[in-house]
Amino acid sequence: MGPVQVHQGTRLAELTTLAVGGPVDRLVEVHDAEELVAAVRDADTAGRPLLVLGGGSNVVAPDAGWPGDVVAVRSRGVLRTGDSLVVQAGEPWDDLVAHTVAEGLAGMEALSGIPGSTGATPVQNVGAYGQEVAQTITAVQVLDRRDGSVRTLAPADCGFGYRDSALKRNPGVFVVLTVTFGLEASELSMPVGYAELARRLGVEVGERAPLADVRTAVLELRRGKGMVLDPADPDSRSAGSFFTNPVVPAAMAGPVVEAGCPSWPAGDDVKLSAAWLVQHAGFGRGTRDGHVGTSSRHSLALTTEPGATATELLAFATRVVDAVRDRFGVTLVPEPTAVRPG
Ligand SMILES: Cc1cc2nc3c(=O)[nH]c(=O)nc-3n(C[C@H](O)[C@H](O)[C@H](O)COP(=O)(O)OP(=O)(O)OC[C@H]3O[C@@H](n4cnc5c(N)ncnc54)[C@H](O)[C@@H]3O)c2cc1C
Repeated sequence: MGPVQVHQGTRLAELTTLAVGGPVDRLVEVHDAEELVAAVRDADTAGRPLLVLGGGSNVVAPDAGWPGDVVAVRSRGVLRTGDSLVVQAGEPWDDLVAHTVAEGLAGMEALSGIPGSTGATPVQNVGAYGQEVAQTITAVQVLDRRDGSVRTLAPADCGFGYRDSALKRNPGVFVVLTVTFGLEASELSMPVGYAELARRLGVEVGERAPLADVRTAVLELRRGKGMVLDPADPDSRSAGSFFTNPVVPAAMAGPVVEAGCPSWPAGDDVKLSAAWLVQHAGFGRGTRDGHVGTSSRHSLALTTEPGATATELLAFATRVVDAVRDRFGVTLVPEPTAVRPG
């Protein structure tokens, strides 16, 4: 544990993968859960606006900057008991996934290569390639800012949904301190739940494959789409997918699916491919406007170039949303948090 460091003059652009956003009043770096609790209570007591950031890979930070405290969560540590792991919020997610694969623990291998911190994963119920963290999270320890108490949320309290949770629906209320995962001791993965991944592995959907092979295959697929953070890859200067796949009533989905949009069942509703919608509304891969646009390898990732602003990016995103609504009658919802100052 190092001393709590408070910096002035840092820009949000330096703390976020989209690399936009203005100056931070006070950047407070915390290195364990105790410091995290103290930093949040300190800001709350003083009445300073608070923004909690992990890897900054799922936020659009405001050009005006942040007129208060940005708490950067750098706590580290993984405690194993049997097949259960208690993980500090600041532990880099992909390091954790690599660790579980090396240890022969199944349950998060398909989530390889996702940037950011472990503490942020319950917020939007991080998911990819047929897995999501809701499948393995058994507890989330939080600081509840409404009364300053530290308590443990059971999975049912987390209200997980598709790229959604009670933490996301109540922004600013819960600060995640640790996340507990229940995994399965196995050299084989959980059943592969995504057709593209199954094809790459040469197995059927629902079959298992060696853990390490799944991790390698996922990383290859992700790199091919610019979905692994890499300073040398301009397509990864993004927040990953900018829109969630819209879930709509079957009657609304019908004509869109007939037009060729990939779709998946979602209870009584239908989940549509946001990437297809974006592409077929006139925003194919590599559509650029000023310093922003769609990635050259994935129409769903919006990327920035040096000189971009959040205003420019959000204006582009609005044009995409309008075009998809005009063309298909479907409203896309952004996945990253658009941080509002104050
Ligand atoms: C190239 C790329 C690929 C991606 N691929 C995927 C993908 O496949 N699937 C997927 O689901 N996501 C993906 N993402 C999005 C992102 O990586 C995840 O959402 C990740 O969990 C965000 O972690 P973070 O630490 O960077 O969060 P941040 O961006 O720092 O924060 C995101 C939100 O969570 C809040 N938050 C962060 N830490 C805490 C905490 N300790 N307590 C309470 N709130 C907190 C923040 O206030 C903010 O509202 C991708 C992003 C990029 C750049």
